[in-house]
Amino acid sequence: MTGGLKNRGRTKADVDERRSGLEEVTGAKLEHIGAYSFDPMLAQKNIENMIGCVQVPVGFVGPLSIDGEFAKGEFLVPMATTEGALLASVNRGCSAITASGGAQVIVVKDEMTRAPVFRTSGVKDCLRVATWVHANFNRIKAEAEKTTSHGKLLKIRAFASGRNLYLRFSYDTGDAMGMNMATIATEAASRLIEQETGAVLVSVSGNMCTDKKPAAINAIDGRGKIVLADVRIPKEVVEEKLKTTVSKAVETCYRKNSIGSAMALSYGSNAHMANIISAIYIATGQDPAQAVEGSMGMTTCEDIDGDLYISVRLPCIEVGSIGGGTRLPCQAEALSMIGCIGAGKAKKLAEIIGAVVLAGELSTIAAQASGELGKAHSALGR
Ligand code: NAP
Repeated sequence: MTGGLKNRGRTKADVDERRSGLEEVTGAKLEHIGAYSFDPMLAQKNIENMIGCVQVPVGFVGPLSIDGEFAKGEFLVPMATTEGALLASVNRGCSAITASGGAQVIVVKDEMTRAPVFRTSGVKDCLRVATWVHANFNRIKAEAEKTTSHGKLLKIRAFASGRNLYLRFSYDTGDAMGMNMATIATEAASRLIEQETGAVLVSVSGNMCTDKKPAAINAIDGRGKIVLADVRIPKEVVEEKLKTTVSKAVETCYRKNSIGSAMALSYGSNAHMANIISAIYIATGQDPAQAVEGSMGMTTCEDIDGDLYISVRLPCIEVGSIGGGTRLPCQAEALSMIGCIGAGKAKKLAEIIGAVVLAGELSTIAAQASGELGKAHSALGR
């Protein structure tokens, strides 16, 4: 039925023809999906069977004062969502953080992983292959790096069970998020390992990577950038801007994020990190499916001499300022709002995301501490 619609054409005329055909087949009117402003040739590396664009509302939060290593100053940050009340809440957190002197943010690790699975003849064979891999790391690295001028192979860790050998490759991927780069490089390196050891490459992704699934290995070891952020909010700012008290916020965070998440055996002990991460990812051309890994963060609150100390640990901020969806015009414009487009900006982007997540966590914990969450959503979201 749709065979004729799936031509490989990428021009605007091809997209228009495909959409008209689809309107005929489905009976749906695709007027708004067809109303977009850029040349579809720009999206040729981002989508197949293109019929138009879905418009997601985009707004901004801030000014947010950030004291990072790469992001310094006040930022107005784009977020794209259809969830009413989200930007209002994050904006309130930004205002409280800025009134308190700004968020401290650091990137403590930056590695993208890909973990192929090899079939061997048994546990001793796994050991033999892993020993060869460790002894020949420089040769494997050279083979992987032939495929990219920016990717650098940093290490390979071996994990075995039965006849299955998983080799978790970690790369520095420069300013790209790096998933395509790491996959292509790992595939090349895996062919060498196959040739030299006789182990059989079953899949370039053996799920110990772990991409787009919640996984303890990522929560502990990180994937992409590990970002840490914190701020101390004076008691007066908590009461005036966040409409709660320090002790209520600390108790809410403890009973909800710490105990509640432990009760649920959740990989994320936070209020709603995925909300902020996915909204910034959508606005700035990141891969929104990686909000899955992004959701596994930890938020903690403490009372320090009557003030509210709040911190976030984000183990998986998988972002780039080059490649992927960043080359699309709307997304590039959104990145330019925060000075994060092009070479040398990926860690700055990660720090900004860390600070906005801190703002989102702060505001939502305060809203729940004061019993205002439902009220805000019914006023703004319904
Ligand atoms: P990419 O757009 O495939 O590659 C980035 C490109 O930018 C590379 O060609 C790289 O060149 C080039 N580049 C230029 N300047 C650079 C710099 N300063 N730093 C780093 N690279 C630079 O992007 P990617 O980040 O590797 O992959 C992102 C895409 O992967 C997203 O679209 C995402 O949806 C998709 N994805 C793929 C998989 C998968 O399994 N393949 C899984 C999840 C997501 P060189 O490499 O030649 O140096």
